Amino acid sequence: MSENMWDALVVGAGVGGLCAAARLSHHGYRTLVVERLDRVGGRASTEKLDGFTINTGAVVVEIGGITEQTFEEVGAKFEVRPADPPILYRINGRDVDINAGGWGLLISQLTRHGARTLASVAAHGDGDPPDREPSTAEWVRRYTKNDAVQGIFRNMCGSIFAVGSEELPARVFLTYFTRKAAFKKFGFCPEGTIGLWRSLADVVERNGGQVWLNSEVRRLHIENDRVTGASIRRDGETVEVTCAFAVSDIGPSATLDLVGPEHFPPDYVGSVLQRDLPCGMISVNFASREPLIKAPGLLSFARTRRLCYVANFTATCPEMAPEGWHLYVGAGVPKPSVGDFDAEAETALVLQDLREEIPGFEQARILSIAVTRDEWPPQRAVAGYDLPHDTPIANLWNVGDAVKEYANGGITACVETAKIVVDEIVAANVGRAGP
Ligand SMILES: Cc1cc2nc3c(=O)[nH]c(=O)nc-3n(C[C@H](O)[C@H](O)[C@H](O)COP(=O)(O)OP(=O)(O)OC[C@H]3O[C@@H](n4cnc5c(N)ncnc54)[C@H](O)[C@@H]3O)c2cc1C
Repeated sequence: MSENMWDALVVGAGVGGLCAAARLSHHGYRTLVVERLDRVGGRASTEKLDGFTINTGAVVVEIGGITEQTFEEVGAKFEVRPADPPILYRINGRDVDINAGGWGLLISQLTRHGARTLASVAAHGDGDPPDREPSTAEWVRRYTKNDAVQGIFRNMCGSIFAVGSEELPARVFLTYFTRKAAFKKFGFCPEGTIGLWRSLADVVERNGGQVWLNSEVRRLHIENDRVTGASIRRDGETVEVTCAFAVSDIGPSATLDLVGPEHFPPDYVGSVLQRDLPCGMISVNFASREPLIKAPGLLSFARTRRLCYVANFTATCPEMAPEGWHLYVGAGVPKPSVGDFDAEAETALVLQDLREEIPGFEQARILSIAVTRDEWPPQRAVAGYDLPHDTPIANLWNVGDAVKEYANGGITACVETAKIVVDEIVAANVGRAGP
């Protein structure tokens, strides 16, 4: 086969794209990954700044779940250093493990009681549309007026789902905490989160595939209702490739544009446009010569305006900062977290929270402030509002955080979409000669 004839074309080298590509190449499919940027990882990538390793998106990675399992299956290095305990909550000036003691009891009683209520609600898909269901904030308010408890739940929603508790259906929250691994164990990648995706890209290449960086898919070609190939802008030229099937990691809305909406039924186009509701996040990367927090993983809060957590990288990964420096990121969810928000005012509130909650923050060196939204959001779809991963085009699938399984979020959810899609491709023998 020439460089321009592939079994699988994967558009985008984000989490979902590279997990799908590693799995496909592991199954023997000749796989081409095309990435517009000069590096892998998409919204879970990393850059260097003055000797500091700065994550440009995802910071914490779940350990022991589907992500680690994927790396094991394809033979990739999974280097994530666990933070123990993973998360503490600053409540009335004390850093508390809410999975233990009185707080643990209260939170688990609340979620268990909520889950019982949940069991009596119609199964997913049969009830109200997600925006008409009670939100997590409403559900918590039914049980308690305590603003610290409400704040903890708000920041749990922000840390895991990248939205406020007002915007997350209670059913999503409760399903996540009662059924999923629920982020019980996690850590940081010492190379920066990009390290994980570099090791998946190595797997693709080891298995005979290629990862083209600085290359953009401009068009997916359709013949007889099937994807047959793509036009790719690479090194200033347009390259035509053919493929037996395609997996897109750029979100259903951008995928629609690559194919042309005229190739899809109007109701599919309508649902993609209607569900194109990304959320937003504000991240402040900062460093200090003095340690500013004791929590070795995430420090979250009971009473903040916008700040959801501060991640302490150098407690477990000192190589992420020059010697003698401590590296942190503070992340906040704006209000509203979906739709338009005033980036300047919301960033000011995150900074105010950091000044009030983190003694010594005033003297810290701010390395960068990033407002991620619109085309580069923390989640393309709020959990509960996802689209299906398959499309009306039989050999085209979406992976990533707009097509998550119900009530899942972040990297874990994107990894899961890749497994489901590749399992479907393999089971249906797509792109292989028949018996
Ligand atoms: C600030 C922030 C903090 C977060 N924190 C966490 C966290 O701590 N833990 C966690 O689990 N999750 C976190 N997330 C969420 C997580 O990063 C995302 O859910 C995940 O990275 C999304 O991956 P994806 O598979 O959808 O692909 P994407 O990251 O969207 O990747 C798609 C790739 O496709 C490329 N592309 C687009 N168009 C084209 C084209 N036409 N041709 C070629 N390439 C193209 C893009 O450049 C991109 O690299 C965070 C996200 C953000 C933004």
